[in-house]
Amino acid sequence: MNPPGNVPVVPEINSKRRQENMGPGKEDPMKKKNKKKKDYRPNYFLSIPITNKEIIRGIQTLQNTIIKQDKRLSKVMTNCGSFHVTLLVMHLLSEEEVNLGIGALLETKALIEEILQGRDLNLPFQGIGNFGNQVGFVKLAEGDHVATLLEIAEAAKRTFQEKGILAGENRSFKPHLTFMKLSKSPELRRKGVKKIDPELYEKFVDHKFGEESLFRIDLCSMLKEKQSNGYYHCESSIVIGKKPVIIMDLIKEALLGERMGMLSKVKQIKELLSKPEIQAQIKRELFDIRPSSSDNQEKTY
Ligand code: AMP
Repeated sequence: MNPPGNVPVVPEINSKRRQENMGPGKEDPMKKKNKKKKDYRPNYFLSIPITNKEIIRGIQTLQNTIIKQDKRLSKVMTNCGSFHVTLLVMHLLSEEEVNLGIGALLETKALIEEILQGRDLNLPFQGIGNFGNQVGFVKLAEGDHVATLLEIAEAAKRTFQEKGILAGENRSFKPHLTFMKLSKSPELRRKGVKKIDPELYEKFVDHKFGEESLFRIDLCSMLKEKQSNGYYHCESSIVIGKKPVIIMDLIKEALLGERMGMLSKVKQIKELLSKPEIQAQIKRELFDIRPSSSDNQEKTY
């Protein structure tokens, strides 16, 4: 899997999770140890966001079913705002490299449209899989869409590598939709939770979660603070095919979310203002102002 032009691939990594766990502003202790060595661990990735509400609700039900059986596992569940399929991981070290990545993503758009030839790419999700019982994910169902997605992932990797970006992994690309990973809680690990028991999700092993139609790919940071909706920080996005309407839907949805938040705050304020004790307090403060001791002191001077 060596890229053209002797561009090294990102070494075998399980570090997307470690990078995420560290959070913004925190330094990885491993980094301190190896300060002199170059750090090629991925810090950016291409993400296909999961936006289909049916899939999101299905995964939330699955997560709740697991949590009901073992409450401790709530700590290792993926936030529903960040559900995604990773298409490619990469290492971008500077602002300049991020800009290179943004350029590569734009070039990838044309290649994807060439691959799809105007067709939609629907990604059906069914059943559950795991990586070493450490990461639980919803599987991409089998079918022609898998080969198309692999072709897209290859095209993206080639485009990024041709720009000299360290992109890709040694292991083969296995599209998956993560819903839990033990690495989110090292504390739980210390307490002895080292494996996800497949029995916890056995009811869902054949469950059809729904289809996501590929319409957007984002260049996301693993380290920067996530957005308020729980999704990763995006440096840039491409929209595939004929779905600007969906972007409008997203904008509408975001505005609606903001409005609902404001309305709920206004409601809370109204409720507060309708309480007799609050009204009395306001009246006291408005009409019953007595001179303070400092005022008195001023007068004596
Ligand atoms: P992601 O959903 O891309 O955030 O991946 C979740 C976790 O699964 C990360 O810790 C990845 O390192 C790990 N992972 C991704 N692909 C593989 C794979 N093919 N084999 C084993 N682990 C993987």
